Amino acid sequence: MNPIEPLIFEKSSPGRRCFTLPACDVPNKPLTNFLPQTMLRKQEAKLPEVSEIDVVRHFTRISQKNFCVDTNFYPLGSCTMKYNPKINEDASCMEGFTKLHPYQPVEQCQGILKLLYDFEQMLKEISGMSAFTLQPAAGAHGELTGMLIIRAYMEKKGATRHKIIVPDSAHGTNPASAALCGYEVEAIPSNAEGLVDIKKLKASFTRDTAALMITNPNTLGLFEKDILEICKIAHDAGGLVYCDGANMNALMGIARPGDMGVDILHLNLHKTFSTPHGGGGPGAGPIGVTEKLKPFLPIPRIEVLATESTEIAEEKIGGENGRSPLLPHNSVSSVNSAAGVSQKKYVSNYDYPDSIGRVRAFYGHVGMMIRAYTYLLSLGKEGVCKTGEYAVLNANYLRHKLKKHYDIPYGTTCMHEFVISARKQKEKGASALDIAKRLLDYGFHAPTIYFPLIVEEAMMIEPTETESRETLDAFVDAMIQIAENIEQRPEVVRNTPQTTPIGRPDEVKAAREPKLKWE
Ligand SMILES: *Cc1c(COP(=O)(O)O)cnc(C)c1O
Repeated sequence: MNPIEPLIFEKSSPGRRCFTLPACDVPNKPLTNFLPQTMLRKQEAKLPEVSEIDVVRHFTRISQKNFCVDTNFYPLGSCTMKYNPKINEDASCMEGFTKLHPYQPVEQCQGILKLLYDFEQMLKEISGMSAFTLQPAAGAHGELTGMLIIRAYMEKKGATRHKIIVPDSAHGTNPASAALCGYEVEAIPSNAEGLVDIKKLKASFTRDTAALMITNPNTLGLFEKDILEICKIAHDAGGLVYCDGANMNALMGIARPGDMGVDILHLNLHKTFSTPHGGGGPGAGPIGVTEKLKPFLPIPRIEVLATESTEIAEEKIGGENGRSPLLPHNSVSSVNSAAGVSQKKYVSNYDYPDSIGRVRAFYGHVGMMIRAYTYLLSLGKEGVCKTGEYAVLNANYLRHKLKKHYDIPYGTTCMHEFVISARKQKEKGASALDIAKRLLDYGFHAPTIYFPLIVEEAMMIEPTETESRETLDAFVDAMIQIAENIEQRPEVVRNTPQTTPIGRPDEVKAAREPKLKWE
Protein backbone atom coordinates (compact mmCIF):
# COMPACT_ATOMS: atom_id res chain seq x y z
CA MET A 1 0.00 0.00 0.00
CA ASN A 2 1.32 3.39 -1.06
CA PRO A 3 1.15 5.72 1.98
CA ILE A 4 -0.52 9.06 1.43
CA GLU A 5 1.92 11.95 1.43
CA PRO A 6 0.61 14.68 3.74
CA LEU A 7 0.35 18.26 2.51
CA ILE A 8 3.48 20.25 3.23
CA PHE A 9 1.36 22.47 5.49
CA GLU A 10 0.61 19.49 7.67
CA LYS A 11 4.35 19.12 8.32
CA SER A 12 4.59 22.71 9.49
CA SER A 13 6.08 23.33 12.94
CA PRO A 14 6.00 26.89 14.32
CA GLY A 15 9.38 28.58 14.06
CA ARG A 16 11.04 25.91 11.91
CA ARG A 17 12.99 27.39 9.02
CA CYS A 18 14.74 26.31 5.83
CA PHE A 19 17.47 28.89 6.22
CA THR A 20 18.70 31.66 8.48
CA LEU A 21 19.56 35.11 7.22
CA PRO A 22 22.38 37.24 8.58
CA ALA A 23 21.30 39.93 11.01
CA CYS A 24 19.87 42.98 9.31
CA ASP A 25 22.44 45.78 9.17
CA VAL A 26 20.15 48.59 8.01
CA PRO A 27 17.43 50.30 10.05
CA ASN A 28 14.08 48.45 10.16
CA LYS A 29 11.28 50.50 8.66
CA PRO A 30 7.58 49.66 8.44
CA LEU A 31 6.32 48.46 5.05
CA THR A 32 3.77 51.27 5.01
CA ASN A 33 6.70 53.60 4.27
CA PHE A 34 7.03 51.91 0.89
CA LEU A 35 3.62 50.52 -0.09
CA PRO A 36 0.08 51.91 0.11
CA GLN A 37 -2.04 50.40 2.86
CA THR A 38 -4.40 48.76 0.34
CA MET A 39 -1.59 46.59 -0.98
CA LEU A 40 -0.60 45.19 2.41
CA ARG A 41 -1.84 41.89 3.87
CA LYS A 42 -4.46 42.03 6.58
CA GLN A 43 -2.90 39.02 8.25
CA GLU A 44 0.35 37.07 8.02
CA ALA A 45 0.73 34.78 4.98
CA LYS A 46 0.01 31.17 5.93
CA LEU A 47 3.28 29.61 4.85
CA PRO A 48 4.46 26.17 5.91
CA GLU A 49 7.27 26.34 8.48
CA VAL A 50 9.55 23.50 7.49
CA SER A 51 13.24 22.62 7.24
CA GLU A 52 15.13 22.14 4.01
CA ILE A 53 15.11 18.36 4.30
CA ASP A 54 11.33 18.41 4.85
CA VAL A 55 10.96 20.25 1.57
CA VAL A 56 13.36 17.99 -0.34
CA ARG A 57 11.77 14.77 0.93
CA HIS A 58 8.23 16.01 0.44
CA PHE A 59 8.71 16.97 -3.20
CA THR A 60 10.94 13.99 -4.01
CA ARG A 61 8.30 11.61 -2.64
CA ILE A 62 5.56 13.36 -4.62
CA SER A 63 7.65 13.17 -7.79
CA GLN A 64 8.00 9.41 -7.24
CA LYS A 65 4.24 9.00 -7.29
CA ASN A 66 4.25 10.27 -10.82
CA PHE A 67 3.46 7.51 -13.29
CA CYS A 68 5.70 7.97 -16.31
CA VAL A 69 7.35 6.21 -19.22
CA ASP A 70 10.62 6.25 -17.29
CA THR A 71 9.10 4.05 -14.57
CA ASN A 72 6.40 1.86 -16.15
CA PHE A 73 4.76 0.54 -19.31
CA TYR A 74 2.35 3.10 -20.75
CA PRO A 75 0.23 1.59 -23.57
CA LEU A 76 -1.96 4.68 -24.01
CA GLY A 77 -3.41 4.26 -27.50
CA SER A 78 -3.04 7.15 -29.94
CA CYS A 79 -0.63 8.93 -27.59
CA THR A 80 2.58 7.02 -28.43
CA MET A 81 4.08 7.07 -24.95
CA LYS A 82 7.39 5.64 -26.03
CA TYR A 83 10.68 5.99 -24.24
CA ASN A 84 12.48 9.28 -24.86
CA PRO A 85 16.25 8.69 -24.98
CA LYS A 86 18.07 10.94 -22.54
CA ILE A 87 20.65 11.99 -25.11
CA ASN A 88 17.86 14.14 -26.60
CA GLU A 89 17.72 16.07 -23.33
CA ASP A 90 21.47 16.46 -23.20
CA ALA A 91 21.52 18.01 -26.66
CA SER A 92 18.66 20.40 -26.00
CA CYS A 93 20.27 21.54 -22.75
CA MET A 94 23.54 22.57 -24.39
CA GLU A 95 24.36 26.14 -23.46
CA GLY A 96 24.83 27.14 -27.08
CA PHE A 97 21.11 26.52 -27.51
CA THR A 98 19.66 27.45 -24.14
CA LYS A 99 21.40 30.81 -23.99
CA LEU A 100 20.38 31.96 -27.46
CA HIS A 101 18.01 34.89 -27.61
CA PRO A 102 15.40 34.92 -30.37
CA TYR A 103 16.25 38.53 -31.19
CA GLN A 104 19.91 37.77 -31.75
CA PRO A 105 21.13 38.71 -35.24
CA VAL A 106 21.07 35.80 -37.72
CA GLU A 107 24.81 35.78 -38.09
CA GLN A 108 25.03 34.77 -34.43
CA CYS A 109 22.34 32.09 -34.80
CA GLN A 110 23.70 30.17 -37.74
CA GLY A 111 24.01 26.95 -35.73
CA ILE A 112 20.40 26.72 -34.64
CA LEU A 113 19.14 27.90 -38.05
CA LYS A 114 21.19 25.17 -39.71
CA LEU A 115 19.77 22.61 -37.28
CA LEU A 116 16.19 23.71 -38.00
CA TYR A 117 16.86 23.75 -41.72
CA ASP A 118 18.46 20.29 -41.69
CA PHE A 119 15.68 18.95 -39.49
CA GLU A 120 13.11 20.14 -42.04
CA GLN A 121 15.04 18.26 -44.75
CA MET A 122 14.87 15.08 -42.66
CA LEU A 123 11.12 15.40 -42.14
CA LYS A 124 10.72 15.93 -45.89
CA GLU A 125 12.64 12.76 -46.63
CA ILE A 126 10.73 10.69 -44.07
CA SER A 127 7.28 11.93 -45.15
CA GLY A 128 7.68 12.63 -48.88
CA MET A 129 6.31 16.16 -48.46
CA SER A 130 7.93 19.16 -50.25
CA ALA A 131 8.29 21.64 -47.39
CA PHE A 132 7.60 21.90 -43.66
CA THR A 133 6.88 24.60 -41.15
CA LEU A 134 8.10 23.80 -37.66
CA GLN A 135 6.07 26.54 -35.97
CA PRO A 136 2.86 24.79 -34.76
CA ALA A 137 2.97 24.07 -31.04
CA ALA A 138 1.00 20.78 -31.02
CA GLY A 139 -0.77 18.30 -33.27
CA ALA A 140 -4.06 20.14 -33.01
CA HIS A 141 -2.29 23.45 -33.67
CA GLY A 142 -0.78 21.86 -36.78
CA GLU A 143 -4.29 20.84 -37.88
CA LEU A 144 -5.50 24.41 -37.47
CA THR A 145 -2.48 25.68 -39.41
CA GLY A 146 -3.27 23.15 -42.14
CA MET A 147 -6.89 24.29 -42.30
CA LEU A 148 -5.75 27.93 -42.59
CA ILE A 149 -3.47 26.92 -45.48
CA ILE A 150 -6.34 25.11 -47.22
CA ARG A 151 -8.57 28.16 -46.81
CA ALA A 152 -5.87 30.52 -48.12
CA TYR A 153 -5.23 28.23 -51.10
CA MET A 154 -8.92 27.96 -51.97
CA GLU A 155 -9.43 31.72 -51.62
CA LYS A 156 -6.49 32.40 -53.89
CA LYS A 157 -8.07 30.14 -56.50
CA GLY A 158 -11.35 31.99 -56.08
CA ALA A 159 -13.06 28.84 -54.85
CA THR A 160 -15.78 29.10 -52.24
CA ARG A 161 -15.72 25.72 -50.58
CA HIS A 162 -17.08 25.62 -47.07
CA LYS A 163 -17.07 21.93 -46.12
CA ILE A 164 -14.48 19.53 -44.67
CA ILE A 165 -15.17 15.80 -44.62
CA VAL A 166 -14.00 13.87 -41.58
CA PRO A 167 -14.45 10.10 -41.14
CA ASP A 168 -16.20 9.10 -37.89
CA SER A 169 -13.05 7.29 -36.76
CA ALA A 170 -11.05 10.56 -36.75
CA HIS A 171 -9.25 11.92 -33.71
CA GLY A 172 -11.50 14.41 -31.90
CA THR A 173 -9.16 17.30 -32.67
CA ASN A 174 -9.81 16.95 -36.45
CA PRO A 175 -13.42 18.15 -36.61
CA ALA A 176 -12.63 20.72 -33.89
CA SER A 177 -9.77 22.24 -35.91
CA ALA A 178 -11.88 22.40 -39.08
CA ALA A 179 -14.77 24.03 -37.22
CA LEU A 180 -12.42 26.53 -35.53
CA CYS A 181 -11.28 27.59 -38.99
CA GLY A 182 -14.89 28.29 -39.97
CA TYR A 183 -15.57 25.11 -41.94
CA GLU A 184 -18.72 23.06 -41.83
CA VAL A 185 -17.77 19.51 -40.82
CA GLU A 186 -19.42 16.51 -42.42
CA ALA A 187 -18.77 13.16 -40.76
CA ILE A 188 -18.86 10.06 -42.91
CA PRO A 189 -19.33 6.65 -41.25
CA SER A 190 -16.68 3.95 -41.58
CA ASN A 191 -17.46 0.72 -43.44
CA ALA A 192 -17.71 -2.73 -41.85
CA GLU A 193 -13.93 -3.13 -42.00
CA GLY A 194 -13.39 0.10 -40.03
CA LEU A 195 -12.04 1.96 -43.07
CA VAL A 196 -13.20 4.98 -45.06
CA ASP A 197 -16.30 4.02 -47.05
CA ILE A 198 -15.29 4.82 -50.63
CA LYS A 199 -18.87 5.01 -51.97
CA LYS A 200 -19.95 7.38 -49.23
CA LEU A 201 -16.83 9.49 -49.72
CA LYS A 202 -17.52 9.79 -53.45
CA ALA A 203 -21.12 10.83 -52.83
CA SER A 204 -20.14 13.38 -50.15
CA PHE A 205 -17.12 14.98 -51.80
CA THR A 206 -18.85 17.68 -53.83
CA ARG A 207 -17.70 21.02 -55.26
CA ASP A 208 -18.48 22.51 -51.83
CA THR A 209 -15.83 20.38 -50.18
CA ALA A 210 -12.45 21.95 -49.53
CA ALA A 211 -10.75 18.84 -48.17
CA LEU A 212 -10.92 15.44 -46.60
CA MET A 213 -9.24 15.11 -43.22
CA ILE A 214 -8.01 11.57 -42.84
CA THR A 215 -5.97 9.82 -40.16
CA ASN A 216 -3.70 7.12 -41.55
CA PRO A 217 -3.21 4.69 -39.91
CA ASN A 218 -6.66 5.46 -38.55
CA THR A 219 -7.67 5.45 -34.90
CA LEU A 220 -8.58 1.76 -35.09
CA GLY A 221 -4.92 1.14 -35.84
CA LEU A 222 -5.74 0.14 -39.42
CA PHE A 223 -3.99 1.26 -42.58
CA GLU A 224 -6.34 2.94 -45.06
CA LYS A 225 -5.43 0.60 -47.88
CA ASP A 226 -7.49 2.56 -50.43
CA ILE A 227 -5.55 5.75 -49.75
CA LEU A 228 -4.55 6.18 -53.42
CA GLU A 229 -8.17 6.02 -54.52
CA ILE A 230 -9.27 8.21 -51.62
CA CYS A 231 -6.80 10.92 -52.67
CA LYS A 232 -7.89 10.62 -56.29
CA ILE A 233 -11.56 11.13 -55.38
CA ALA A 234 -10.69 14.32 -53.47
CA HIS A 235 -8.37 15.65 -56.20
CA ASP A 236 -10.79 14.85 -59.05
CA ALA A 237 -13.39 16.93 -57.24
CA GLY A 238 -10.90 19.83 -57.00
CA GLY A 239 -10.32 19.33 -53.28
CA LEU A 240 -7.34 18.58 -51.06
CA VAL A 241 -6.38 15.80 -48.66
CA TYR A 242 -5.24 16.61 -45.15
CA CYS A 243 -3.59 13.72 -43.35
CA ASP A 244 -3.35 13.53 -39.59
CA GLY A 245 0.10 11.96 -39.25
CA ALA A 246 0.22 11.87 -35.46
CA ASN A 247 0.66 8.12 -35.78
CA MET A 248 3.59 8.29 -38.17
CA ASN A 249 5.66 5.88 -36.08
CA ALA A 250 3.70 3.06 -37.71
CA LEU A 251 4.88 4.10 -41.17
CA MET A 252 8.23 5.67 -40.45
CA GLY A 253 10.86 4.35 -42.82
CA ILE A 254 8.33 2.12 -44.60
CA ALA A 255 5.82 4.30 -46.45
CA ARG A 256 5.47 8.03 -47.10
CA PRO A 257 2.19 9.99 -47.03
CA GLY A 258 3.63 12.32 -49.69
CA ASP A 259 3.84 9.38 -52.09
CA MET A 260 0.22 8.46 -51.33
CA GLY A 261 -1.10 11.76 -52.66
CA VAL A 262 -1.60 13.62 -49.40
CA ASP A 263 -1.44 17.43 -49.73
CA ILE A 264 -0.91 18.41 -46.10
CA LEU A 265 0.40 16.33 -43.24
CA HIS A 266 1.03 17.07 -39.61
CA LEU A 267 3.51 15.18 -37.49
CA ASN A 268 3.68 15.09 -33.71
CA LEU A 269 7.28 15.49 -32.57
CA HIS A 270 6.05 14.60 -29.08
CA LYS A 271 4.85 11.22 -30.28
CA THR A 272 6.69 9.82 -33.28
CA PHE A 273 9.90 11.77 -32.77
CA SER A 274 10.40 10.95 -29.15
CA THR A 275 10.19 14.28 -27.39
CA PRO A 276 8.57 14.33 -23.95
CA HIS A 277 4.86 14.99 -23.59
CA GLY A 278 2.03 14.94 -21.14
CA GLY A 279 1.10 17.21 -18.29
CA GLY A 280 0.46 20.11 -20.63
CA GLY A 281 4.13 20.53 -21.50
CA PRO A 282 5.30 21.86 -24.84
CA GLY A 283 4.65 19.87 -27.99
CA ALA A 284 5.38 20.49 -31.63
CA GLY A 285 3.21 19.69 -34.65
CA PRO A 286 5.15 20.48 -37.84
CA ILE A 287 3.10 20.72 -41.04
CA GLY A 288 4.35 19.34 -44.35
CA VAL A 289 2.85 20.42 -47.68
CA THR A 290 3.17 19.77 -51.39
CA GLU A 291 4.94 22.20 -53.71
CA LYS A 292 1.76 24.07 -54.69
CA LEU A 293 0.89 24.82 -51.04
CA LYS A 294 4.37 25.97 -50.07
CA PRO A 295 3.67 29.69 -50.70
CA PHE A 296 0.95 29.58 -48.01
CA LEU A 297 3.16 28.22 -45.21
CA PRO A 298 3.74 30.41 -42.14
CA ILE A 299 6.59 32.91 -42.25
CA PRO A 300 9.44 33.27 -41.72
CA ARG A 301 10.82 30.36 -43.75
CA ILE A 302 14.33 29.29 -42.82
CA GLU A 303 16.35 29.13 -46.00
CA VAL A 304 19.92 28.67 -47.02
CA LEU A 305 21.88 30.88 -49.34
CA ALA A 306 25.13 29.92 -50.90
CA THR A 307 27.38 32.93 -50.42
CA GLU A 308 27.88 33.26 -54.18
CA SER A 309 24.22 34.11 -54.60
CA THR A 310 23.99 36.14 -51.40
CA GLU A 311 23.76 39.55 -53.01
CA ILE A 312 20.79 38.75 -55.22
CA ALA A 313 18.94 36.79 -52.62
CA GLU A 314 19.44 39.29 -49.84
CA GLU A 315 17.46 41.95 -51.65
CA LYS A 316 14.39 39.75 -51.46
CA ILE A 317 14.64 39.17 -47.75
CA GLY A 318 12.27 41.57 -46.10
CA GLY A 319 10.87 41.28 -42.62
CA GLU A 320 7.85 42.24 -40.59
CA ASN A 321 7.83 46.02 -41.12
CA GLY A 322 10.91 45.59 -43.18
CA ARG A 323 12.95 43.69 -40.64
CA SER A 324 13.21 40.24 -39.26
CA PRO A 325 12.78 39.58 -35.54
CA LEU A 326 16.21 38.08 -35.65
CA LEU A 327 17.53 41.33 -37.08
CA PRO A 328 16.30 44.19 -34.99
CA HIS A 329 18.73 46.75 -36.33
CA ASN A 330 19.78 46.04 -39.85
CA SER A 331 19.48 43.69 -42.75
CA VAL A 332 21.11 40.32 -43.28
CA SER A 333 24.84 40.66 -43.33
CA SER A 334 27.04 38.09 -44.87
CA VAL A 335 28.67 35.38 -42.84
CA ASN A 336 32.12 34.30 -43.77
CA SER A 337 34.26 31.74 -42.12
CA ALA A 338 37.47 32.91 -40.50
CA ALA A 339 39.47 31.90 -43.53
CA GLY A 340 37.22 33.97 -45.76
CA VAL A 341 36.03 30.89 -47.66
CA SER A 342 32.50 31.10 -48.96
CA GLN A 343 30.00 29.02 -47.01
CA LYS A 344 26.28 28.51 -46.62
CA LYS A 345 24.29 31.14 -44.87
CA TYR A 346 20.95 30.54 -43.14
CA VAL A 347 18.37 33.29 -43.21
CA SER A 348 14.76 33.79 -42.25
CA ASN A 349 12.78 34.73 -45.31
CA TYR A 350 9.58 36.78 -45.00
CA ASP A 351 9.07 37.21 -48.71
CA TYR A 352 6.00 35.02 -49.07
CA PRO A 353 3.07 37.34 -49.88
CA ASP A 354 0.54 34.47 -49.83
CA SER A 355 1.66 33.17 -46.44
CA ILE A 356 -0.99 32.71 -43.76
CA GLY A 357 1.42 34.59 -41.45
CA ARG A 358 2.84 33.52 -38.18
CA VAL A 359 1.24 30.82 -36.05
CA ARG A 360 3.75 30.95 -33.19
CA ALA A 361 6.25 33.42 -31.80
CA PHE A 362 9.75 33.19 -33.30
CA TYR A 363 10.42 29.62 -34.48
CA GLY A 364 8.05 27.63 -32.28
CA HIS A 365 9.16 25.21 -29.58
CA VAL A 366 12.77 24.97 -30.67
CA GLY A 367 13.80 22.76 -27.73
CA MET A 368 11.51 20.03 -29.05
CA MET A 369 13.08 20.30 -32.49
CA ILE A 370 16.57 19.89 -31.05
CA ARG A 371 15.41 16.74 -29.24
CA ALA A 372 13.73 15.31 -32.35
CA TYR A 373 16.75 16.13 -34.49
CA THR A 374 19.03 14.38 -32.02
CA TYR A 375 16.68 11.41 -31.99
CA LEU A 376 16.82 11.06 -35.78
CA LEU A 377 20.59 11.48 -35.91
CA SER A 378 21.11 8.84 -33.23
CA LEU A 379 18.75 6.39 -34.98
CA GLY A 380 20.19 6.89 -38.43
CA LYS A 381 18.36 5.69 -41.54
CA GLU A 382 18.43 2.07 -40.47
CA GLY A 383 17.06 2.89 -37.01
CA VAL A 384 14.27 4.99 -38.48
CA CYS A 385 13.12 2.01 -40.57
CA LYS A 386 13.30 -0.34 -37.59
CA THR A 387 11.11 2.04 -35.59
CA GLY A 388 8.14 1.47 -37.87
CA GLU A 389 8.74 -2.28 -38.03
CA TYR A 390 8.96 -2.73 -34.24
CA ALA A 391 5.97 -0.48 -33.54
CA VAL A 392 3.86 -2.68 -35.82
CA LEU A 393 5.38 -5.95 -34.63
CA ASN A 394 4.82 -5.16 -30.93
CA ALA A 395 1.19 -4.18 -31.48
CA ASN A 396 0.46 -7.31 -33.50
CA TYR A 397 2.13 -9.46 -30.85
CA LEU A 398 -0.19 -8.07 -28.17
CA ARG A 399 -3.20 -8.26 -30.45
CA HIS A 400 -2.53 -11.91 -31.20
CA LYS A 401 -2.03 -12.81 -27.53
CA LEU A 402 -5.21 -11.04 -26.41
CA LYS A 403 -7.65 -11.98 -29.15
CA LYS A 404 -8.84 -15.18 -27.44
CA HIS A 405 -9.72 -13.26 -24.29
CA TYR A 406 -11.20 -10.03 -25.60
CA ASP A 407 -13.33 -9.05 -28.60
CA ILE A 408 -11.38 -7.27 -31.32
CA PRO A 409 -14.09 -6.00 -33.65
CA TYR A 410 -12.00 -4.61 -36.54
CA GLY A 411 -9.15 -5.96 -38.63
CA THR A 412 -7.10 -9.13 -38.55
CA THR A 413 -3.72 -7.44 -38.31
CA CYS A 414 -3.03 -3.95 -37.10
CA MET A 415 -0.49 -1.19 -37.45
CA HIS A 416 1.03 0.37 -34.32
CA GLU A 417 -2.10 -0.02 -32.17
CA PHE A 418 -5.39 -1.88 -31.97
CA VAL A 419 -8.74 -1.48 -30.29
CA ILE A 420 -10.35 -4.18 -28.20
CA SER A 421 -13.92 -4.15 -26.97
CA ALA A 422 -14.69 -5.09 -23.36
CA ARG A 423 -18.34 -5.62 -24.26
CA LYS A 424 -18.19 -9.28 -23.22
CA GLN A 425 -16.60 -8.35 -19.89
CA LYS A 426 -19.13 -5.61 -19.30
CA GLU A 427 -21.95 -8.12 -19.60
CA LYS A 428 -20.21 -10.18 -16.89
CA GLY A 429 -20.08 -7.12 -14.63
CA ALA A 430 -16.80 -5.21 -15.18
CA SER A 431 -16.45 -2.48 -17.80
CA ALA A 432 -13.53 -1.07 -19.81
CA LEU A 433 -13.12 1.53 -17.06
CA ASP A 434 -12.89 -1.20 -14.39
CA ILE A 435 -10.28 -3.09 -16.39
CA ALA A 436 -8.29 0.13 -16.87
CA LYS A 437 -8.37 0.78 -13.12
CA ARG A 438 -7.38 -2.80 -12.32
CA LEU A 439 -4.32 -2.53 -14.58
CA LEU A 440 -2.95 0.20 -12.30
CA ASP A 441 -2.56 -2.42 -9.56
CA TYR A 442 -0.31 -4.39 -11.89
CA GLY A 443 1.89 -1.33 -12.40
CA PHE A 444 0.68 -0.57 -15.94
CA HIS A 445 -0.76 2.67 -17.16
CA ALA A 446 -4.27 2.13 -18.50
CA PRO A 447 -4.82 2.09 -22.27
CA THR A 448 -6.96 4.82 -23.83
CA ILE A 449 -10.58 3.93 -23.08
CA TYR A 450 -13.95 4.75 -24.70
CA PHE A 451 -12.17 5.97 -27.84
CA PRO A 452 -12.62 5.62 -30.77
CA LEU A 453 -16.33 6.18 -30.29
CA ILE A 454 -17.28 3.61 -32.92
CA VAL A 455 -16.19 0.72 -30.67
CA GLU A 456 -18.34 -0.17 -27.68
CA GLU A 457 -16.37 -0.38 -24.40
CA ALA A 458 -13.25 0.49 -26.38
CA MET A 459 -9.71 -0.04 -25.09
CA MET A 460 -7.08 1.32 -27.43
CA ILE A 461 -3.70 -0.30 -26.88
CA GLU A 462 -0.43 1.06 -28.26
CA PRO A 463 2.69 -0.66 -26.93
CA THR A 464 5.17 1.42 -29.01
CA GLU A 465 8.42 0.15 -30.45
CA THR A 466 10.52 0.75 -27.34
CA GLU A 467 9.13 -2.11 -25.22
CA SER A 468 10.76 -5.48 -24.72
CA ARG A 469 9.14 -8.87 -25.20
CA GLU A 470 9.22 -9.40 -21.41
CA THR A 471 7.24 -6.22 -20.76
CA LEU A 472 4.69 -7.13 -23.42
CA ASP A 473 4.31 -10.62 -21.92
CA ALA A 474 3.78 -9.21 -18.43
CA PHE A 475 1.05 -6.95 -19.78
CA VAL A 476 -0.60 -9.88 -21.58
CA ASP A 477 -0.54 -11.92 -18.36
CA ALA A 478 -2.22 -9.08 -16.46
CA MET A 479 -4.92 -8.63 -19.11
CA ILE A 480 -5.64 -12.38 -19.16
CA GLN A 481 -5.79 -12.58 -15.37
CA ILE A 482 -8.21 -9.67 -15.29
CA ALA A 483 -10.42 -11.34 -17.92
CA GLU A 484 -10.41 -14.54 -15.84
CA ASN A 485 -11.18 -12.62 -12.65
CA ILE A 486 -14.17 -11.05 -14.36
CA GLU A 487 -15.51 -14.53 -15.18
CA GLN A 488 -15.38 -15.51 -11.49
CA ARG A 489 -15.75 -12.38 -9.39
CA PRO A 490 -16.28 -9.16 -11.36
CA GLU A 491 -16.77 -7.19 -8.12
CA VAL A 492 -13.07 -7.67 -7.32
CA VAL A 493 -12.15 -5.91 -10.56
CA ARG A 494 -14.77 -3.23 -9.95
CA ASN A 495 -13.31 -2.50 -6.55
CA THR A 496 -9.93 -1.29 -7.81
CA PRO A 497 -7.32 0.17 -7.81
CA GLN A 498 -6.11 -0.92 -4.40
CA THR A 499 -2.43 -0.01 -4.53
CA THR A 500 -2.48 3.62 -5.70
CA PRO A 501 -2.38 6.60 -3.30
CA ILE A 502 -6.06 7.25 -4.00
CA GLY A 503 -8.68 4.89 -5.39
CA ARG A 504 -11.33 6.35 -7.65
CA PRO A 505 -11.74 10.07 -7.30
CA ASP A 506 -14.83 11.80 -8.56
CA GLU A 507 -13.20 12.58 -11.90
CA VAL A 508 -15.23 15.70 -12.62
CA LYS A 509 -14.78 17.12 -9.14
CA ALA A 510 -11.08 16.26 -9.04
CA ALA A 511 -10.58 18.30 -12.20
CA ARG A 512 -12.97 21.15 -11.42
CA GLU A 513 -12.42 21.57 -7.70
CA PRO A 514 -8.91 20.33 -6.94
CA LYS A 515 -7.95 20.75 -3.29
CA LEU A 516 -4.73 22.69 -3.51
CA LYS A 517 -5.03 25.05 -0.58
CA TRP A 518 -4.60 24.44 3.10
CA GLU A 519 -7.44 25.93 5.12
C1 LIG B 1 -2.41 13.07 -30.42
C2 LIG B 1 -3.18 13.16 -31.65
C3 LIG B 1 -3.62 14.41 -32.12
C4 LIG B 1 -3.47 15.71 -31.36
O1 LIG B 1 -2.18 16.06 -31.03
P1 LIG B 1 -1.90 17.11 -29.84
O2 LIG B 1 -0.45 17.36 -29.91
O3 LIG B 1 -2.34 16.45 -28.59
O4 LIG B 1 -2.70 18.34 -30.13
C5 LIG B 1 -4.29 14.43 -33.32
N1 LIG B 1 -4.54 13.31 -34.01
C6 LIG B 1 -4.14 12.09 -33.58
C7 LIG B 1 -4.45 10.88 -34.40
C8 LIG B 1 -3.45 11.98 -32.39
O5 LIG B 1 -3.07 10.77 -31.96
